[in-house]
Amino acid sequence: MKIDGSRFKRIVVKVGTSTLTHSSGFINIRKIDKLVSCLADLHNGGREIILVSSGAVSCGLARVGFPRETLTPRQKQAAAAVGQCQLIDMYARRFADYGCTIAQVLLTRNVVDEPELRANAGGTIELLLEQRVIPVVNENDTVSNEQIRIGSNDTLAAAVAVLVRADLLINMSDVDGLYSADPRSDPGATLLEYVEKIDERIIACAKGAGTARGTGGMKTKLESAQTAAEAGIPMIILNGADPGILYGVFDGEFRGTLFAAEKGKSE
Ligand code: GLU
Repeated sequence: MKIDGSRFKRIVVKVGTSTLTHSSGFINIRKIDKLVSCLADLHNGGREIILVSSGAVSCGLARVGFPRETLTPRQKQAAAAVGQCQLIDMYARRFADYGCTIAQVLLTRNVVDEPELRANAGGTIELLLEQRVIPVVNENDTVSNEQIRIGSNDTLAAAVAVLVRADLLINMSDVDGLYSADPRSDPGATLLEYVEKIDERIIACAKGAGTARGTGGMKTKLESAQTAAEAGIPMIILNGADPGILYGVFDGEFRGTLFAAEKGKSE
């Protein structure tokens, strides 16, 4: 897919658990190193980067001894508290190697929904970006319950993109993009490179397609693309197996799916 990436200045990049961790739950150091060097490079090139990173629960579970088969919501929350520390520590150190400063931003649904909290969060992120800091966002899993839970970082990333009025939302997952059918069960499935509008036909393509270890599947990705599109923000799905794939978006050509914005800043 050809694209003029030079127009995108403020970019929200969402990276899923399956991109960031091994199946053991431990951090995939090779991928994180590549992701951070790529984001630091885009940042140094003058772009504003907001990273929405999953992986807290998975990293935490790799560290604490809760049995996976009988995992309770409370144990997951406790695991997230452990894993989030590890994630942020790792990002802070790696970004620092490239001279970049990061900030941890933990959000819940009520922050995104309630005007006062929303203005606080938005204003703080804005100030961080002005100071050339890279906000690293996750859901505040330790405190989220059913009432204030966002649930999936696909949804969170779209909410953040709207909050900061991003020019582009990039969702990095373990799939190449949206296929005409589920590629795991249908060998004839083809990658859809450009989606002008998310209609019934597109929703039908996403049925059943999920990711290996994250919470979101293609359905939540389409919902987040819709949220972004309605706010005038295009969204791209890329395969995070090689985080260097991000460069393609800004160099003019990439493999993935581009969802057009509905109005305003078109893609
Ligand atoms: N907030 C969760 C975590 O950090 C991830 C949720 C998701 O990937 O959708 O583990």
